Amino acid sequence: MNFVKENGRTIPAEDKVFALSGRAKAAIAAKGKDAVINATVGALLDDNGDLVVMSSVVDAIRTLTPADYAEYAPITGTPAFKDAVVKALFGSYGPSGHVSVCVTPGGTGSLTSVIANYSNYGDAVLTHDWCWANYKNIAVSQGRTLRTFRFFNEEGGFDAADLEKQLNELAAVQDQVVLMINTPAHNPTGYSLSLEDWDALISIVNKAECKVVLFLDIAYIDYAGEEDEVRAFLPKLADLGDHAIVIFGYSASKTLTAYGMRCGAIVCMAKNEEDAEEFRRAAEYSARSTWSNCNRSAMVVMSKIYSDPELQVKVDEERRMYRDMLLERGRVFEKTLNDNGVSCVPFSAGFFVTIACDDPAEVGRKLEEQDIFCLALAKGIRVSIASISKEKCVKCAEAIAALLK
Ligand code: PLP
Repeated sequence: MNFVKENGRTIPAEDKVFALSGRAKAAIAAKGKDAVINATVGALLDDNGDLVVMSSVVDAIRTLTPADYAEYAPITGTPAFKDAVVKALFGSYGPSGHVSVCVTPGGTGSLTSVIANYSNYGDAVLTHDWCWANYKNIAVSQGRTLRTFRFFNEEGGFDAADLEKQLNELAAVQDQVVLMINTPAHNPTGYSLSLEDWDALISIVNKAECKVVLFLDIAYIDYAGEEDEVRAFLPKLADLGDHAIVIFGYSASKTLTAYGMRCGAIVCMAKNEEDAEEFRRAAEYSARSTWSNCNRSAMVVMSKIYSDPELQVKVDEERRMYRDMLLERGRVFEKTLNDNGVSCVPFSAGFFVTIACDDPAEVGRKLEEQDIFCLALAKGIRVSIASISKEKCVKCAEAIAALLK
């Protein structure tokens, strides 16, 4: 009968990643986990293939009271949660300007909110061509389109020239552009903007002849490298002109290995109080009209961790251990690829490595025949190094290189 209205969306029969991961799980059930490489999952698994759950976070969860679960939370989040997010996001740098925080269900909710509140129906939202596929779904679901600039130039560096071109073209038809940048440890490439890239980006935004909402998706920041180093770009944001506003998409999913708790935040850093207050009003309204309010118990856990220096040290140290495990997998994967004559899309750190190729669907199929499950994107193969051991990183990189050479 077709009761569902597509409304410009292309609703697939099933989610591609979850379907692929289902096939990988079936292969594991049939052949055993040593025989299968499941590099599909966007979650951190240990070398045995078990989900990493930080015990320090679990300890904090165990202290929750029934009211922490049961009571409604304020729509924008509890005050203690908001303080916790500011600490978690800015680290030792501290914010500049006027900050306002609204809790969201994961980092995903922050994307929904920024698009709902900072673009018009029919607008194009600008992002890099390599991007998390959900960016498009979230934009299109809200009657917007997704426009992309080339993330990397011929030399394999940040393509500032194409960003400038695309932004200027949009500025000619829109008075305001939401520019979404996922860094550090970008999904799917693992690229982190360098400080020079940041200078170029800020200068382009400052020259733009439209208002710019710079949305920074920092979902993977805590896995990108040393805490201070990966936040070194933050002071540069103060150089943005008055026609720009910075909005962060924060996710506790990865930071606390708490994907299922659905906790994140949208954080505005404005030059003046009126813009920060306008943000609060809009974020609160769109939260109320979509998911209403968020998981209070997750907020209490965040608040406990970031208000107790001892607990925070425990969590940070535990995460550092897993982060270093992940960084090592990345180094090994990239080296094995390179040793076999293949290079990846510029990679620095994070959950994923991507290898550009001509027919990703075919490469994905051939890998699957070898019980190696990786996501075929439009322009390459995405490998979740977060979900496979160092040994499997070597095998996977060798298999991909053998197919591509
Ligand atoms: N941003 C990027 C680039 C992601 O890859 C993800 C999750 O995979 C998110 C945001 C949001 O994650 P969550 O909603 O689970 O916090």
